[in-house]
Amino acid sequence: MDDSRDMFGDTPPWDENAEDDKPDAAELEAAGQQSMFGDPEPEAKPEPAPSAAELEAAGQSAMFAAEPEPAPVPAQAAPVEAPVEAASAKAPAGTTARPYRVLARKYRPQTFAELIGQEAMVQTLANAIKRDRLAHAFLMTGVRGVGKTSTARLIAKALNCIGPDGQGGPTIDPCGQCEPCLAIAEGRHIDVIEMDAASHTGVDDVREIIEAVRYAAVSARYKIYIIDEVHMLSRNAFNALLKTLEEPPAHVKFLFATTEVDKLPVTVLSRCQRFDLRRIPAPMLAGHFANVCEKEGVEAEAEALAMVAAAAEGSVRDGLSILDQAIAHADLDGEGQVRADKVRDMLGLSDKSVQRKLIAAILDGKGGDLLDLVAHQFALGVEPIALMRGLMDLTHRVAVAQVSGSADAHSTEEREAIEGWAKSLRAGQLHRLWQLLLKGHDEVKSAPDPLVAAQMALLRIMHASDMPDPGSLVRKMEEIAARAPAAPMAEGGNAATGGAPASGQAAAGHQLSSPAAIAPRWEALVDDVEHAGEMSAANTMRMQVRVVELGAGLLRYTQPPGFNEDIAGLLRSALQAATGERWEVAKVTGEGAPTLVEVHEVKKTADAEALRTSPLVEATLAAFPGAELIQEDRQVAIGGGGRNWRR
Ligand SMILES: [Zn+2]
Repeated sequence: MDDSRDMFGDTPPWDENAEDDKPDAAELEAAGQQSMFGDPEPEAKPEPAPSAAELEAAGQSAMFAAEPEPAPVPAQAAPVEAPVEAASAKAPAGTTARPYRVLARKYRPQTFAELIGQEAMVQTLANAIKRDRLAHAFLMTGVRGVGKTSTARLIAKALNCIGPDGQGGPTIDPCGQCEPCLAIAEGRHIDVIEMDAASHTGVDDVREIIEAVRYAAVSARYKIYIIDEVHMLSRNAFNALLKTLEEPPAHVKFLFATTEVDKLPVTVLSRCQRFDLRRIPAPMLAGHFANVCEKEGVEAEAEALAMVAAAAEGSVRDGLSILDQAIAHADLDGEGQVRADKVRDMLGLSDKSVQRKLIAAILDGKGGDLLDLVAHQFALGVEPIALMRGLMDLTHRVAVAQVSGSADAHSTEEREAIEGWAKSLRAGQLHRLWQLLLKGHDEVKSAPDPLVAAQMALLRIMHASDMPDPGSLVRKMEEIAARAPAAPMAEGGNAATGGAPASGQAAAGHQLSSPAAIAPRWEALVDDVEHAGEMSAANTMRMQVRVVELGAGLLRYTQPPGFNEDIAGLLRSALQAATGERWEVAKVTGEGAPTLVEVHEVKKTADAEALRTSPLVEATLAAFPGAELIQEDRQVAIGGGGRNWRR
């Protein structure tokens, strides 16, 4: 931590507060900075010629009693940095009393060539430098550990490098030898100022910058401010910064890094050249880790590295931390090899072979085996949620194998199993399997007892797995329907399609006193009343009025049982309001047409009945005893505007 403070040199204003309340990420970052800048070890020490570095390596390996071979040839082509890496990388090969430095710090990229997975960004930046079209402010975004701050520091080097002869300009390939390059690498460059916005969120911190911005760079071409986690700045701090961002002096560059670009004010965003650093794909990470292991002199199984890469979720830093642990475990066991089963234990991942057995048990309907396997894994310390994730991962790979024709597998057995399922399972089955697993995953996550939830979820999946997928279901139903006689298309079905009044008549047994034309007229009239703003009257008309007679300016009606309120006055004034005519309204005795609400209810029932008796549904119900027709009920809005009432 102290080193990272030192980095700020004699610009301490944002260092007034103790840093011990920093979040983890900030601490990690600080650790990273330490490694990059304040580190007394060979990495930071300039070694101009490879031969010197090799000597150093030899010296070190002698010192730590490591194996005698020469330093491994670094994979990267970087001319100067890489041998230095090799020199420092050699040290940990000895197993005793080595100065321990976490991999994430040790393998922080020192050149753009070493920055993995961000080729597009590097290319853009290279073009900008070549054409001298550099923005005043850069914004690096991306998930944690993809290299945002590393990139910021590399850009600082790129902009300030003067080349070995002191004559060079900004370059995408900083020499690493000139004074600015060295000073930046060691964190002692007075014109490159780093600030962690996570711990310096206030407007005062920003003011310090703004004050300092006015003065020319002391020795470098550009005065560079690197502000990490810039989204943490307060609103006022942003506002204070904005003026400077709008028109920064030509000698000033701002490099912002953030994980949460959405939280930045658009005013700031619009003034930055933005680089979205991509998540690094797992295979690329695995390759990187393999290189690291080689440099570290550690053997590692490919499957182990693949697991580490998968767990890293696109972050180099996270992955290297996991790899660190894995190497420590391997050392502890005295095996010196990073093995897949150990990494699996360490990460709490479920065994891949167990996952395959689980899927097999699900597909074969072997509930007993299934429960045994789950219980056994749980006893071994595998979290049920990890089990579900493992199964989802496997399902995904089967689905991919089905499409691509080749399986992504870490072992021969796995490949065979995946390819077998890719052939034997239908796409629809795989998708349902995935969906059920996903649902199970969520249940396990939120359940009070994850083990029980996992068991239940897997049993449910097992029971569902022999069901046909929707595509074959439809085909099957159509076959059955084709064989069935057309008889079920009975009166019910026809009546239902015949429109509201007819079905109302048929099912409710009411007789319309006038021809069926009354119903639509009445309905239109109710709509008019509603449109005239008489909502309550319109509702009353829908619920309580059984029309006996409807003529020009004449309404005779009855009310359904249970409604005794005198509504004649209400109807009269509402109808007059809607039509502008005088109405004769009277309650009479006798049978009226069903109310509009009744018609609707009847129609709904008739529709459901028609649906139930349609051949396809009957076939489905026959094929799946116990299946239910579930109606997605659209509530009729009595209070105006239910679509059922509208034409
Ligand atoms: Zn340089």
